Amino acid sequence: MPRVLKRIALVVFFLVAVMAVALYAVYFWRAPLPAAAPHARVAPVISTIPGLTACWVETGKTFSNFSFGATAGTILVKHPAGDLLIDAGNSSHFDDEIRSFPLGTWLKLKFLAGQLKPQAPLPNLLRRVGEDPAKLRWVILSHAHLDHAGGLMDLPGMPVLLTREELQFANDPKVQAKGYVIAAHTQKFPLADVPTLRFEAKPYETFDESADLYKDGSVVVVPLRGHTPGSVGIFVNLSPKRRPGTRRHSRSWAQRVQEILSRRAAELRFRTIARLK
Ligand SMILES: [Zn+2]
Repeated sequence: MPRVLKRIALVVFFLVAVMAVALYAVYFWRAPLPAAAPHARVAPVISTIPGLTACWVETGKTFSNFSFGATAGTILVKHPAGDLLIDAGNSSHFDDEIRSFPLGTWLKLKFLAGQLKPQAPLPNLLRRVGEDPAKLRWVILSHAHLDHAGGLMDLPGMPVLLTREELQFANDPKVQAKGYVIAAHTQKFPLADVPTLRFEAKPYETFDESADLYKDGSVVVVPLRGHTPGSVGIFVNLSPKRRPGTRRHSRSWAQRVQEILSRRAAELRFRTIARLK
């Protein structure tokens, strides 16, 4: 081997070794996190509510034949007191909404979130799976990002549940300039000083605050700040007897849903793909 090649190989080896040590230092020598503050742990009493069901309605998907595929959609919760949508997927007007962004932002939006653009407006997709959009009472967003809020553009006049923190985040011009939240979507949100979702100091599971949407324990919202300042987690308490995860020897709920999603996503476009009674 020529001398110069040997030197290059040595330099490369040295650089790789330094990078490996640096990675080790960054990932394994981190200071341990401080202990979590003490908090309540309240096991909720879940009562069976006749007619309460939930299903995932896919609105968009990409690379669904691969393990890195993605799906977007909404969870329809059918409740005797009026149906709820959890998230709304992308907007059917996605391309128009991102048109005026600078090229770099436009490319990011177009080739990431834009890949999950729905082929039809959300009410049409609900009708295709045999559901009636007129029965919708409200929509709750896990957070205000464009790929969760866009479907609101086709649901005029629908009450949208959002916290004050998330409304402030969504109305921040810097957040909108990056394309994380689309200004047109915020027109469908409540005003920032009139939030439609407020937590009570009522512990639920391991959360110190909660909001019981229907006041019957069927859908309970908790703060899940992090992805955005006002992200929320939503418990949908279907009948304990009929939840797959509660059966003995069965796989976990998450595994089963994941299997259903990945198996059925390839087969059924715009159909109800997981009905979790
Ligand atoms: Zn997000």
